[in-house]
Amino acid sequence: MSYKILDKTNKFLKKNHNHMINGNWQNSSNDRILDVINPATKEVVSKVQLAGKDEVDLACKSARESFDKGIWKDMTPSNRGKILWKWADLLEERIDQIIEVEVIDNGMPVIVAKTFIGWAIDWIRYYSGMVDKVTGDNFSNVISGDNQRFHSYTSYEPVGAVGIIIPWNGPFGTFIIKVAPALAAGCSCVVKPAEDTPLNALIIAETAIEAGIPPGVLNVIIGDGSAGELLVKNSNLDKISFTGSTEVGKKIVNQCSNDLKRVTLELGGKSPCIIFNDANLDIAIPGAAMAIFSNSGQVCFAGSRLFIQEDIYDEAIRGIADFSKNLKVGNGFDEDTVLGPLISNSQHKKVSEYVDIGLKEGADIISGGSVDDDSGFFFNPTVFGKVNKDMRIAKEEIFGPVLAACSFSSVDEVVNLANDTRYGLGSGIFSNDINKVHNVANRIKAGNVWVNHYGGMHPTLPFGGYKESGWGRELGIDGFKTYLEQKTVSIKLD
Ligand code: NAP
Ligand code: MG
Repeated sequence: MSYKILDKTNKFLKKNHNHMINGNWQNSSNDRILDVINPATKEVVSKVQLAGKDEVDLACKSARESFDKGIWKDMTPSNRGKILWKWADLLEERIDQIIEVEVIDNGMPVIVAKTFIGWAIDWIRYYSGMVDKVTGDNFSNVISGDNQRFHSYTSYEPVGAVGIIIPWNGPFGTFIIKVAPALAAGCSCVVKPAEDTPLNALIIAETAIEAGIPPGVLNVIIGDGSAGELLVKNSNLDKISFTGSTEVGKKIVNQCSNDLKRVTLELGGKSPCIIFNDANLDIAIPGAAMAIFSNSGQVCFAGSRLFIQEDIYDEAIRGIADFSKNLKVGNGFDEDTVLGPLISNSQHKKVSEYVDIGLKEGADIISGGSVDDDSGFFFNPTVFGKVNKDMRIAKEEIFGPVLAACSFSSVDEVVNLANDTRYGLGSGIFSNDINKVHNVANRIKAGNVWVNHYGGMHPTLPFGGYKESGWGRELGIDGFKTYLEQKTVSIKLD
């Protein structure tokens, strides 16, 4: 590998990383230190302090107090917007370093990091333009049954102090997708990144202070799941916004039932991708392959179940297998790498076990399933054909580069197959028949339907899940409103 890491990135990795609380770098009161591992080399690349109860409490108190004092929420919207825009500019100035840290921490290829991070910086700009567009409705002359007259209106207010818990599969983007609308709405935040990828959260926090986001408004604590649990229980918070597994999402819902904190959940998926026999296979084959293999399958909306219409099944599945064999798996800094490593040893073990399960269940392995290079947590893109809907590889989220494909004959059959899941996040349709596309898009129970492409995100377009894939939406105006409370004011007129 010829790539040379920037000096400033090496310097950043060597720092003693601690927590950003109330505008200061704060050490833990315990002595727990976590090794940060580069999944492409299995080497320890950095060390971070882990938060315990003291740090969680301090960070939540700081968010609470900054919110209650109104130092951010009561700032003029144009000033808040300017600071957010400046924050985006500062992140952009450091983008080369942020990309390197994302590749070292998560393993994703440079080109993938560049794309995701570029999108996320623009999400900040999108929400910075929304700060002064929070308007309610006006209900003049409401007359009640007993002939009283009222003038009424609705308004929106920030929900308060928000706990934000994010996963490791897109550390920079999953941070920004929540924090940008929360800050634009006037909320104060405490963010806990995943222990597998804590590093970019610290750069984001540092640039936020430089941009002028007041101390206490954006706090970042580095911790494991136990710190997440403490955050959820903390009575200084009004809302939890969580991205992660459905299992942890359910625990959070249970915990929040005690004080009815507001909850937004972006959870797991087992998203269907459908290729109809009228599709352009030059688009559908790479499209369906990258729907699952992008970011090594570690994508919540990965198109992990593929349904191919029976008369093109052999051609399409062979095309996808051949395409996947040419995807270079390796270190994200190698220019020709398309698939980086899996995040950790445990994720690697889990994906390998699912391949064994698929084989035992009698699925037809067409390509992959193996590991060529064990210097990192690499896994070859794997295609299973003739998968039966009751097999575990067709039902359970693997979160790795493993595709479960089968054939179908009719539209009704494939709609039933696509919806036969506890999840409902993404979905893909490849077809040139506009009527069929509309018909199937209407009938699929998923928050997102991509047609003749897969997985693009845009700040204006809401993203989120049906069923056990989550509650609420991110991005767009709906993503903004999840950080607002609505108030109705009703004035009795004489
Ligand atoms: P995870 O185990 O649920 O962890 C997510 C976050 O929650 C991490 O920060 C984790 O901390 C923390 N956490 C763990 N236990 C907790 C608890 N009891 N209370 C509060 N927080 C807790 O998920 P993951 O393995 O990191 O990520 C993979 C999952 O995320 C997949 O299921 C994927 O589909 C889903 N995901 C969904 C979306 C979406 O937008 N819908 C996007 C990305 C990923 P530690 O990691 O430090 O233990
Ligand atoms: Mg790591």
